[in-house]
Amino acid sequence: LNKQFIFDEPIFVTKAKLPEFEQYSERIKSIWKNNWLTNNGPLLNELKGKLTNYLNVSEIELFSNGHQALEIAIKALDLKGEIITTPFTFVSTVHAIKNCGIEPVFCDIDPVTLNINPDEIVKLITPKTSAILPVHVFGVPCDHNQISEIAKKHNLKLIYDAAHAFGVEVDGKGIGTFGDVSMFSLHATKVYNTIEGGALTFNDRQFGGKVFKQKNFGLSSATSVDFVGTNAKLNEFQAAMGLCNLESINEDIANREAIYHAYCSKLKDVNINFIEFDKNVKANYSYFPILLPNKEIRDLIFENLQKYNIFTRKYFYPVCNDFECYKETPYLTPIARDIGNRVLCLPMYSELSIDAVNQISNALIYELSQTNVLV
Ligand SMILES: *Cc1c(COP(=O)(O)O)cnc(C)c1O
Repeated sequence: LNKQFIFDEPIFVTKAKLPEFEQYSERIKSIWKNNWLTNNGPLLNELKGKLTNYLNVSEIELFSNGHQALEIAIKALDLKGEIITTPFTFVSTVHAIKNCGIEPVFCDIDPVTLNINPDEIVKLITPKTSAILPVHVFGVPCDHNQISEIAKKHNLKLIYDAAHAFGVEVDGKGIGTFGDVSMFSLHATKVYNTIEGGALTFNDRQFGGKVFKQKNFGLSSATSVDFVGTNAKLNEFQAAMGLCNLESINEDIANREAIYHAYCSKLKDVNINFIEFDKNVKANYSYFPILLPNKEIRDLIFENLQKYNIFTRKYFYPVCNDFECYKETPYLTPIARDIGNRVLCLPMYSELSIDAVNQISNALIYELSQTNVLV
């Protein structure tokens, strides 16, 4: 332990973004005036318009959370059988498939992008496959060109879990325009939040009508129900939070970018890997994952950084097909398991100071030097 790198206060992997208290108070005044708390209210619709613009998409619908949004997307596409997805994700992705009565089929990942490997997808397609559900893990865009070609060729639907990719663009296109539908999580721990919340973005307006009804019990009018729906509406207080946080989003992402570069320059001479972005990608710097040489060192660093008051997270460990509820699936994803064993996410949020980043990096480098992995 090198005492000079100890923080007085705990530093967590993320910190929820809150607007100024007065700014939020001002935003929610209209709720008292209109007495409109939820159900397609004016703040929700204002937020939909602004998010359509910001995300550079044609259509959007908002939901109580990202997970419900993903389940609704799967239901609205009338999928059956099997969906090919990645085990290197938050378990929500896989639960959404399973909760719709569909079998998740785990596909291995690319060891550099950490995203689903398109060459492996092809090998897993069977007559039962109805869709592919890739995740833009840590906000790194999947290889959409190759994946969409596979989907087209085999007549499969393509749903993206873009929970980490709020605001990401590829070649100037909003990442939410990819595939049949994309899901963004607007949870407190993500780059942009509405406290809890989720969004679906898509190009087909008719699909919008379907997902709108899904989140409102399948009602098509006060006296008619079209199908078995659910309740997954975003309320006006969440929308107000979203409107406030959207005002600072560019500044928040700029801060994250500075943090990303500060980490990279501190850690570039150390024998660990971190993610990089292609030149055609406008990134959101949602996470700062590093890959350590092996599980033993990863676990040791995780433990030892806590002595400095630094609380990192093992995202995503264990990988989903190592969880009890998904274990029956034949295990065919050695790269995902290896990455899960070596990954560690360092603190990353817009309010993290560059001084703190340097101190975290110094503590990490010091602890690594104690394990003899420095080059
Ligand atoms: C956060 C997250 C979700 C779920 O989103 P919620 O808004 O928390 O329901 C789904 N997939 C991934 C990859 C996530 O990180």
